[in-house]
Amino acid sequence: MKTAGLVSLSLFNVTALAAFFTYVNHKGQAVSEPTVRPDPLTRNSPSEAVLETDGTKDSYSLTALDLPQLRGDFDRCLATLENLDIEYEVLGDQRRRSCSLTQQVSLTSGQIDYAVPFQATCTMIAAIALWEEQAVQQSAREYLGEEIARIHHYGSFSCRPIRRDPSNMSAHASGSALDVSAFETVSGRMIAVYGNWDRQDSVGQFLHAIRDRSCEIFPGVLGPDYNYDHRNHFHLEYTSRRHRVCD
Ligand SMILES: [Zn+2]
Repeated sequence: MKTAGLVSLSLFNVTALAAFFTYVNHKGQAVSEPTVRPDPLTRNSPSEAVLETDGTKDSYSLTALDLPQLRGDFDRCLATLENLDIEYEVLGDQRRRSCSLTQQVSLTSGQIDYAVPFQATCTMIAAIALWEEQAVQQSAREYLGEEIARIHHYGSFSCRPIRRDPSNMSAHASGSALDVSAFETVSGRMIAVYGNWDRQDSVGQFLHAIRDRSCEIFPGVLGPDYNYDHRNHFHLEYTSRRHRVCD
C-alpha cells in the first residue's frame, strides 16, 4: 500500500489528499486507497481530473493519448476507471487454461449497456469507455439521430492462437480484444455489422464512422474490409503492437 506523501503541505499534496477522499467507486463502496503519482507531464492525471471537474464523472476527460500510459501501471489504470461513469469489478491476475491474464477487469456496465458483461485488461476497459462516447455515440447521433442503448458482442477472452496464424496467440488470449457484433439504438433498432456494412445509406455510414473512429483509439481494428472472418464484427484490440492496423 502506498500513501500520498504528506511531509510538506505543497499544493500537490493537498490535491492528492482531496483525490483520496473522493476515491469511492461507482457503487458507493470505499475501495483500497489509490496510488496518486505526481506526473507533471501527464494531462488529466486522475488526481487532477477529480478536482477539475464539477463533481460529475461524466465531465472527466480521458483521451486516447492517456491510454498508453495506463498499460503496465495497474494502479494508475484503476484510478482512471474510478473517474469514469462505468461499473466494474477488479479481477487482477488470473490463469485460465494455458493463458496467463494480467490486470483484468470485468465490465458490468459502461455508459452503454452490454448484452453480456465481459472481462478484459484494465487498459482495454478504459479504451472501451472512451470508444463508447467518441466512436459509438458520436456516430449514432450524427448518422442515426439517436443514441445507442446496448452493444452486442461475441466476447473478449479466448485462450487461442490467431486463426490464420497459429504460431501466434490472439489478442483475445490476454483479454486485450473485444469482438463487437451489433448496436441496439434507444428506439430499439438493431444494427448488426453483418449485412449492413455495405449499405450506402446512413446505417452503412454509421458503421463506417465507428470503424474509422475506433482506429483513433485502438492500435488494432479489424472489420468486414479485413477478411471474411470479420464479416460480422469489429475486432477491437488494445495491445502494444508495433504496427497499427485499421481495416
Ligand atoms: Zn477478435
